[in-house]
Order: sequence, then structure tokens, then C-alpha cells
Amino acid sequence: MNIIDLHCDVLEKLTRLENVNFQNDARLSASLEKLKAGNVKVQVFAIFVHSNLPDNEKFLAAARQIEAFHTKVLAEPEMVHITEWEQLNQLEDGQIGAILSLEGCDCIGEDLLKLEHILNAGVKLVGLTWNHENGVAYGASEDPSKGLKPFGRKVVQLLNDRNIIIDVSHLNEQGFFELLPLAKKLVASHSNARAICNHPRNLTDIQIKELVKHGGRMHVVFYPPFIESGKESTTIEYLVKHVEHIASLVGVQHIGFGSDFDGMGLSIEKLANAGEYENFIKALLKRFTYEEVSIMANRGFQKYALKIN
Ligand SMILES: [Zn+2]
Repeated sequence: MNIIDLHCDVLEKLTRLENVNFQNDARLSASLEKLKAGNVKVQVFAIFVHSNLPDNEKFLAAARQIEAFHTKVLAEPEMVHITEWEQLNQLEDGQIGAILSLEGCDCIGEDLLKLEHILNAGVKLVGLTWNHENGVAYGASEDPSKGLKPFGRKVVQLLNDRNIIIDVSHLNEQGFFELLPLAKKLVASHSNARAICNHPRNLTDIQIKELVKHGGRMHVVFYPPFIESGKESTTIEYLVKHVEHIASLVGVQHIGFGSDFDGMGLSIEKLANAGEYENFIKALLKRFTYEEVSIMANRGFQKYALKIN
């Protein structure tokens, strides 16, 4: 079954590890070899700039990851840069769609020109924050009652004007609720259900319902502490509990996957890299029909992306 995965951090590793290659480097969880083994048909590649970098180095770090996307990921003949959503329907057998996203606006400071520059590289999804405060808003680890900043509203306007999907996965609660009526296009690219695992990176039932009501989708993440409270390792079955819970709230048509491969030091048993996706699909098929699983795996996002362009 083909997979659309809305989040991985392989670009950060491609700029950090020595002598790394995207094709089959064993240190990568979402290398080309593993994406192929897992039937990943479309992979979103996040530009993730670590918050501990000095502010004046963040934009350059983002530029380096965009460079790695072009020179390492797109250098592989199978990889196709998706810059228009219609391209999702035109991928041929053996081709893998590659989408760029920005995981948090820390690297733009308070400069819309920097954001425009990043969008011009072909970015299709943008998260306003990572876990901390930036010039735009407050992340999931900050005070949940603080909302969007005035500059953040300008950022949302620009993203709307450019038809960019705004990613709520790392945003705090107040920012989330202020964003809902403002954003044209929404997604939670890698978050789980807080009702199953109480963590500020997960969404409450109210948030999940409101997200879907405003046209957004929930893409579940494979990071153990967001699956089973306080655990450094967990099972696929526990992740399926999140899927079942979200399905009971909003239906399978609004659920997708956003693994976070190469962004985690921990992993689920038997689902440690993109090459093991089939184990997750098998577990889902015990609880859902083939039709329902394929909607979650690829068709739901595909229809949504084509519809919202
Ligand atoms: Zn993340």
C-alpha cells in the first residue's frame, strides 16, 4: 500500500552528518532505500532549524537544508519535487514525490522577506513554531494561554496568500485557537491524541474536532513519548489506539501519517524506520478495512491536497 508521510527530519541529518548519502546511508531512517522498502510514495521533508542555534545563524541553517534537499534528495532520479498539488496524480511507478515544509518560523526572525525566500524554494507546508517562543507565536512547551503575535498574523496572511498549508503540530493551545479562523489551509502534520497520551505536543479532543471542522487533518506521529505517556519505547498496537480514538472523533478520512523519522532518538518496536511501514499497515488492517487504511495511508491526503490547491 502506498504511503504519504507528512513529516521527516532527514534534511537536518543530511546537513549535520559527515559523508552522508541519502540513497542508502544506514544512519538515516528515511533514506531513499528505506522509503522504497516501506512503499512511501510521497514524503514531506521538513526544514528544521534547532532552537539552540544563535539567531543570526538560523536562516543560513535553513538555506543549507534547502540546498541539501536539492543536491542530495532531488539528485536521486526517482525523486520528484512536488511544487503543485496536481503532481500527486502524475507520479509514475517507481517515482517518489518530495514535498518541502518548514518546521517553525524561528529562522525568519521578524522578516517576511526571509519567509518569502524560503517559500520560493517550493515549500508547501509551514508550522508557525517549534516547541518554543519565536517572533510569530508560542510553541507547545510554552504557556498555553499566549496567542499569536502581531507579526504572526502577518505571517498567516502571507501563507494564506501563497496557498500554503499551515501546520499546527508544534503550536500551543491559544495560538491554535486564534489560528483556526484565520488560516485558509490547516494540518497537524505529526501529532497524536492527548486523550490517549497526555502530552502538550498532542491535541485534545476539542482541538481535533475543531481542526477537522476548519478543514484540517490529523497525521499521527511515531515518537514513543507522544504515544504512551512517559515511555521511551512502545508498540505499534499503542499507536493504533490513537488512530482508533481519532477515527471515533472525526472519521478515518481525516487521519494520515507523519512519522517524524530522523527527528527522533527513540522509536516504536518494529516501526523504527520508513522501511518498516508495512508492520503498521498490517496492524491497522486488523482494526480497519482495506479501504479505510488506504484512505489513511494516502488517499485522504491526496484528495485534500488536490481540493485545497
Ligand atoms: Zn516536530
